[in-house]
Amino acid sequence: MQKHDQDFIKRKNRTTVFELIRKHSPVSRAEIARWTGMSPTTVSRIVNELYHLDFMHEIEQETTSVGRKAVFLQVNPKSVLSVGVEMDKTGVRTGVVDLDGKVVGIRYIARQPEEPSDATLGKIADGIQTLIREGGFDRRRIVGIGVGLPGIIDHDGGRAVLSAQLGWKSTDIAPLLQERTGLPTAVDNELKVKSLAEHTYGAAAGSKRSVLIGFGSGVGSSLIIDGDIYRGESNSAGEIGHTIVDPGGSLCECGKRGCLQTYIAEAALLEKARKIKPVSGLDELFQARRNGEGWAADILDRAMAFIAVTIGNIACMYNPDTVILTGKLVEQYPEVKDFIAEKCMSEFVWEPLRGTFRIVYSAFEQDGVIIGSGLLAQSRFLDIASQIDQMEQNQI
Ligand SMILES: [Zn+2]
Repeated sequence: MQKHDQDFIKRKNRTTVFELIRKHSPVSRAEIARWTGMSPTTVSRIVNELYHLDFMHEIEQETTSVGRKAVFLQVNPKSVLSVGVEMDKTGVRTGVVDLDGKVVGIRYIARQPEEPSDATLGKIADGIQTLIREGGFDRRRIVGIGVGLPGIIDHDGGRAVLSAQLGWKSTDIAPLLQERTGLPTAVDNELKVKSLAEHTYGAAAGSKRSVLIGFGSGVGSSLIIDGDIYRGESNSAGEIGHTIVDPGGSLCECGKRGCLQTYIAEAALLEKARKIKPVSGLDELFQARRNGEGWAADILDRAMAFIAVTIGNIACMYNPDTVILTGKLVEQYPEVKDFIAEKCMSEFVWEPLRGTFRIVYSAFEQDGVIIGSGLLAQSRFLDIASQIDQMEQNQI
């Protein structure tokens, strides 16, 4: 056998064993040999390698009713890390994420709304280096960086095609961060990574088909099928905020009339409200409704109806098993939650689809984008065979 064939098999076996332990832990050495068809010697060699480099732990567990104990293997979630980045108009949050999707370190970086992209990206690169150093993380265990931001994102090219919130157009993100940190970088739309977090470890864990709908400065959604983000032709699948629901409606920021988000997005609601009264934000608008002010009720009741319409339309389009709701408008106001609980399924969802899916709320709330970005980086860049090589080379 050629040397590079042997290398290939060796690398493949390492990955197989690691993934098997990760998915089925706790698992015994004998089970690994039986499931993979590898010889006990090969399994032992790989497991020892992983064990000595701290990629896994051994635990003792009783195996039978007679109380005999055996040794099982479990992956050490802190043995592989990634950096998740959430970018917004006025700030950037960076976090170190482990294999279980836990945020184990966090750092906030301020940003001016009009700041040029290279200045922001430079600050993020420096911030990540500081986060890793000050958190005492072993750099060799960090497989890469994931970045989540609002807008249309070229996922393969690592650039923002258009992010209205950040004011970025055709902006390279991954190449610059990669160059400045030495870490491979993946970039994606914030709702897409958030849905990945919810689907993997959050409110939609165990789901086969889930859709996350975000009600924030815009309205968007992300569909996950069997663990994979559905991207469409240009990574724009799910941009429901710009589906037209009334051709003669109000002008949207995109230049069209009557887009769905002109009825639900926070900015649109406030704009409508301020034509009547100078409210400071959503809180005041909801308070006006509670005080029985008819104009506030008109705006918010229509917004709630359109939230329910969105859920109903999503159910018709994708027939998911789970719909995850996220965003201030749906998470922070009890009247919205009550409306969804009482009316959505019974009045707005088409009858044959009622009860075919559940409506849940984001489990991670503010950390969802960091966790999802970190998981995106792990799914793109984790190559356990290379991780082992890197750890071994540096182990002197
Ligand atoms: Zn629009």
